Amino acid sequence: MSAKLLDGLSVAKEIKSEVAAEVKALFETHQIKPGLAAVIVGSDPASQVYVGSKVKTCETLGLYSEQHTLAETTTTEELLALITKLNAKDTIDGILVQMPLPKQIDANRVFAAISPSKDVDGFHTENVGRLALKQTGFVPCTPAGIMELLKRYDLSVAGKRAVVLGRSRIVGLPMALLLTHADATVTICHSKTPKLREITKEADIIIAAIGRTAFVTTEDIKLGAIVIDVGINKLSEETEVLRYFPDYTNRLAELEKKGYTLIGDVEPVCDTVAGYLTPVPGGVGPLTIAMLMKNTVKAARLRRAI
Ligand code: NDP
Repeated sequence: MSAKLLDGLSVAKEIKSEVAAEVKALFETHQIKPGLAAVIVGSDPASQVYVGSKVKTCETLGLYSEQHTLAETTTTEELLALITKLNAKDTIDGILVQMPLPKQIDANRVFAAISPSKDVDGFHTENVGRLALKQTGFVPCTPAGIMELLKRYDLSVAGKRAVVLGRSRIVGLPMALLLTHADATVTICHSKTPKLREITKEADIIIAAIGRTAFVTTEDIKLGAIVIDVGINKLSEETEVLRYFPDYTNRLAELEKKGYTLIGDVEPVCDTVAGYLTPVPGGVGPLTIAMLMKNTVKAARLRRAI
């Protein structure tokens, strides 16, 4: 059996074109341009790429955006002062603070400082509570994107047994809540879960979000399962590329060019057992940015009761 690949890139493209149409209509009808402020602390190259691509997507879809880059040595108080200003700024509907933050910064205080009405990442306690209670609020972009992907591929969740690997605030926990609200029977596994691989074998749907290279193997999944690979891990050794990728030619070329190639939390060869699988890259990743744009437009509407 060969799994059907769930194409996150095309679904993200579809969502983004819907967002662009909504942004245009909002401007024509209400003269509103939804605005996103992206805050980055320090010079982590991966974070710079992520933020750059979020800002660029805003521009492409017609949203207003601004980027605030703070020094690596920024204190929690300094970051909070910027957030207070952005909370008060009328042209800004959504605020995102790129993770990870430098060690000296108290991330929980930062999440708590963002106005819940501008919390387009959905990390504020109020939005986490709203999600838990199935009330309107902001849902973290990656799990929200996964639900859109499943919906747009007509993959029903109701009545299925779902296993979520990982319990983070960003992915695992909200993912488990969304699947529960969609009537799946959900098990969350984490680093302290005994016999985890016996649990995944029973699952109709597996969401792997642990950040461990090729952790889920063909032995761990049921024939025909839906497997969503959230993990983003780097391979920088040729021997690893040869080991994990059956069709390694493109990957070796990429390794030579960039010094690494990406792999998820699921062994690529799982496509021989799974019914559906998201590729890495090109699966979950693109959906995260698309949902951030969607959340920003939603914030613009909710703030003005449109
Ligand atoms: P975190 O590090 O915050 O959380 C990882 C979770 O995985 C924790 O709950 C941890 O358990 C669990 N875990 C770690 N090792 C194991 C193990 N060996 N067995 C079982 N559980 C384990 O990561 P995130 O949730 O932020 O991200 C997870 C992955 O998803 C990363 O690779 C990240 O890069 C990727 N990601 C991708 C996105 C995308 O757009 N595609 C967006 C966000 C993240 P415990 O709680 O017990 O420590």
